[in-house]
Amino acid sequence: MKREFLFLLLLFANSVIFGQKISPSWEELTSEEFAKAVKLSEGVCIIPIGVIEKHGQHLPLGTDVYNAREISLRAAAKEYAIVFPTYYVGQINEAKHQPGTIAYSPEMLYKFLQESCDEISRNGIKKIIIMNGHGGNNNFLKYFCQCQLAAEKDYAIFIYTPEADAETQKKISELRKSNTGGHADEVESSEMMYIKPELVKMGRANAESGAELNRLNLKNAYTAIWWYGKYPNHYAGDATGASVEIGELSFNQEVQQLSEVIRIIKSDKATINLQKKFFNEWH
Ligand SMILES: [Zn+2]
Repeated sequence: MKREFLFLLLLFANSVIFGQKISPSWEELTSEEFAKAVKLSEGVCIIPIGVIEKHGQHLPLGTDVYNAREISLRAAAKEYAIVFPTYYVGQINEAKHQPGTIAYSPEMLYKFLQESCDEISRNGIKKIIIMNGHGGNNNFLKYFCQCQLAAEKDYAIFIYTPEADAETQKKISELRKSNTGGHADEVESSEMMYIKPELVKMGRANAESGAELNRLNLKNAYTAIWWYGKYPNHYAGDATGASVEIGELSFNQEVQQLSEVIRIIKSDKATINLQKKFFNEWH
């Protein structure tokens, strides 16, 4: 293919190969398309990570999986990247008392994620963006990412760290009816109303309390049972005021931010070069 033609193709058709729209979903591609998608993505893959856990009485167990995947797919449609298949191997020990939770062991979480990244790299993708949809994963993912320097490798992992956009936040606060939250709350429920309305049962949103119970009093100390101490129903906030409007605002802000992160990571050469230099200095 002529270079100029390739350039035009990339310029005008961000997710088009040979005149055909190409899916960002890894599992939807044929093997032949996959090889082309790797080039088109400039070697960038997103792993949207969720978990299977209770989300109040009104949202599906897979809420975080649906949310992280949908944000990633829509961001990748704006700025092409490959999106890894459905991923729900996350840290969720604190919901083991609730029906439907799938909580793998700490060793399994680590190994599963590392081997997934190794497989992505073996397929020619050297930049991996982790898009986390579940708060209980935050500490694990930072630790996992930092441990990537423990052994030499030819790929880099980036964790998408969203930041609230002040203008969008202001609009959302004006629309919100509640000011507490954290899990299956007004905003998360609104996002699900926007992307998966058929799975939301708002009539069940006040079937249990999402109020914070202060059952521990530990200043400047952390302990594992803290979440259960506050929210034994695995519901934090009051979702009854949820609306599609709030969901759309919050969701689209994330899609926009993630698509910008994909663009920045595509053009970034410093990370891999610094890793190489760092690993070389070991010897
Ligand atoms: Zn959630």
